[in-house]
Amino acid sequence: MLIYDLDLPALAELLKSWDEPAYRAKQIWQGLYQHLYNSPDQFTNLSKPLRERMTAEFNFSPFKIKTYLDSSDGFTRKTLFELPDGNLIEAVLMRYGDPADDPQMSTSETNRRGAKNRRTLCISTQAGCAMGCVFCATGQMGFKRNLSSGEIVAQVMYYAQMLKAADEVVSNVVFMGMGEPFHNYENVMAAIDRLNDPDGFKFGARRFTISTVGLVPQIRRFADEGRQVNLAISLHAATDVERLAIMPVNKKYNIEEVIEACKYYVEKTHRRVTFEWALINGVNDSPEVARQLAARLKGMLCHVNAIPLNPTNGYSGAATDRQRAAIFKEMLEQAGVGCTIRMRRGVDIQAGCGQLAGSLLL
Ligand code: SAH
Ligand code: SF4
Repeated sequence: MLIYDLDLPALAELLKSWDEPAYRAKQIWQGLYQHLYNSPDQFTNLSKPLRERMTAEFNFSPFKIKTYLDSSDGFTRKTLFELPDGNLIEAVLMRYGDPADDPQMSTSETNRRGAKNRRTLCISTQAGCAMGCVFCATGQMGFKRNLSSGEIVAQVMYYAQMLKAADEVVSNVVFMGMGEPFHNYENVMAAIDRLNDPDGFKFGARRFTISTVGLVPQIRRFADEGRQVNLAISLHAATDVERLAIMPVNKKYNIEEVIEACKYYVEKTHRRVTFEWALINGVNDSPEVARQLAARLKGMLCHVNAIPLNPTNGYSGAATDRQRAAIFKEMLEQAGVGCTIRMRRGVDIQAGCGQLAGSLLL
């Protein structure tokens, strides 16, 4: 069994059935999540027979490293993992370093977000995705299966162990890899709770961001549960006709319903919602669209994160250029809606959602 699939009570229960004393579970938990051990022989505080039993019964890594790619600027690494059933998932590490050695990020931007030396992980929640957004490589691949909570946790632990060797730590985790996190709600929340544990990895809730295509019942449930996790909504269009053309989910939950659910979330949590916007040349990047979007969002505690489209094989759209993106931002801000244009990172390693797995599968 994958050891990261167990929460602390389940681990304690299992060790009890092995006739081990109660404190053993805590020792293993701390070894895993505080010392970041990834093999039984590192647990030198445990007896040899127990370590042998752990070797026999536990799996410490659910995947094989199929391949990895580093961006030419050295700031981004993308790893493609192969699961035991052959499915491929990917997880990306983005290093936001000192602005002096990071030409892609302006100093003011870095300072504003306190982003110095950030180590952000972008991880997957499903193999493939059922939502079918036309511009997305994962959507183009279709749905394979949900990841277990342990398979989600293991992506974080893989990079945490790697960073530890360089005396670095993970600073943020975003659920923006393959899959729709709210379509795998239980396992995603279980993974967050496991990583959040104060006796374990202690990863603060505010350092997670969930990105969703806009599944309304789950947005409301998430609001009710009151976690301090950040929420981002993939909007990408300001009218239902335009959104439906690129995001089939809009048939089920239209823009109005999504925005209502977001308002409910803000009301409940007092937290700001981020709206994500992939800028597609001539599709959703005109001043007119910016005006329509601003009208929809005005007065709401929110921010627009716009990022030029990462072109994919299965979609003919192209990225908006810098100048047009700047006008889009300007229009929104004049109308009172905050907007950041995010630089594309790791473009040369196909760091866009699902693109690496997609290119290997096609
Ligand atoms: N399923 C979730 C999270 C994974 S996708 C969601 O859709 O929100 C993470 C983000 O990448 C989403 O905002 C998604 O719309 C965006 N995205 C997908 N494909 C993209 C592409 N080719 N270029 C730019 N952004 C893309
Ligand atoms: Fe799925 Fe998100 Fe891609 Fe849409 S953008 S297909 S929801 S992973």
